[in-house]
Amino acid sequence: MIPSILPTYNRAPLSFVKGEGSWLIEADGRRFLDLGAGIAVNALGHANPRLVEALTEQAQQLWHVSNLYRIPQQQALADRLVNLTFADTAFFTNSGTESCELAVKMARKYWYEQGDAERVEIIAFHGSFHGRSAAGIAAAGSEKMTKGFGPILGGFTHLDWGDMDALRAAVTDRTAAVLIEPIQGEGGIRPLPDQDLKALREICDATGALLIFDEVQCGVGRTGRLFAHEWAGVTPDIMMVAKGIGGGFPLGAVLATEAAAAGMVAGTHGSTYGGNPLGCAVALAVLEEVATPDFLDAVNRKAGALRQKLEGLIDAHPEVFTGVRGSGLMLGLTCKAPAADVVKAGYDAEILTVPAADNVVRLLPPLNITDAEIAEAVARLDRAATAVAASVEKGA
Ligand SMILES: *Cc1c(COP(=O)(O)O)cnc(C)c1O
Repeated sequence: MIPSILPTYNRAPLSFVKGEGSWLIEADGRRFLDLGAGIAVNALGHANPRLVEALTEQAQQLWHVSNLYRIPQQQALADRLVNLTFADTAFFTNSGTESCELAVKMARKYWYEQGDAERVEIIAFHGSFHGRSAAGIAAAGSEKMTKGFGPILGGFTHLDWGDMDALRAAVTDRTAAVLIEPIQGEGGIRPLPDQDLKALREICDATGALLIFDEVQCGVGRTGRLFAHEWAGVTPDIMMVAKGIGGGFPLGAVLATEAAAAGMVAGTHGSTYGGNPLGCAVALAVLEEVATPDFLDAVNRKAGALRQKLEGLIDAHPEVFTGVRGSGLMLGLTCKAPAADVVKAGYDAEILTVPAADNVVRLLPPLNITDAEIAEAVARLDRAATAVAASVEKGA
């Protein structure tokens, strides 16, 4: 018999009743240190008092009105994001997937308005993840995501991650846009080097192709800058945002330059819930905290401390780990043992991590994790790795 929840997830046998900062608590009182943060969503941890206050204050005033009307919280959030980033304009969605839909539509509409309706081709990359909608799975392009779902949305070309020669050859005056995660998340925390991001911008500029960054996972302070692309000193034309921006409230955004957004006039796109007062009130509170030099400095300092401790962990368990990669508090432990075993052993050690492709264990802690929690996290990872090593030995 089919379960009452459509069984599209293989869930861990864990169920939490309460969250407190970097901790998730089960009904029996067991406390798990959460280095997954809902897959980079709970940027300020669980039940953050400032977010609770922003949400409950707004909930007592007004939940939802529709984008038929002006929404002051949405206006304030758009103004803030435009102020903080390359963008001139913002559209609010409820998820990263919906941000992908609009990014693709916006890029194609741009060329349509330029009188080049045939310029629809979007170049994307193997190993990427852009969501589960028809456009999202087409953009990622893997057989795993697309097989069995009928005709796949056309107009996507996929290149190997980091193959800059292939990219130079592929981007032509037929290319509408290049869509890329500056750091692949689901693909295994694979950063594109800064010099390659710079080269990518130049390659796009040479033909006018628009550059779309998917910062759904790597954005909103995760790498120690407000957005990951800031490290490379280049800006996109369009950017997808979600996950951390809502701190746990479902919210996403597409940010764009005025030129890239030129085709998106009244009636061309919409969303019932996108940018509603609740989501925007919470996101404003998230940015108030995250988009400050002091907060981002702290992220960088903690990232350095975590990374240093992880190097020690890797040295202590060469039969389990091979290295660490990533940026800021978006780190991936590359594994020799199966990454899934490490994640599972973490459950016994009461630490939560997230598996990714390429046999990687992802660490995406709340950005306000404390130094003591970082030390505790590495101690628990050490326990998990010891258990994995013991079972590897037994199996051998
Ligand atoms: C999670 C994710 C998405 C999809 O976001 P949803 O909110 O799950 O729809 C898209 N792109 C990247 C890079 C992601 O990590």
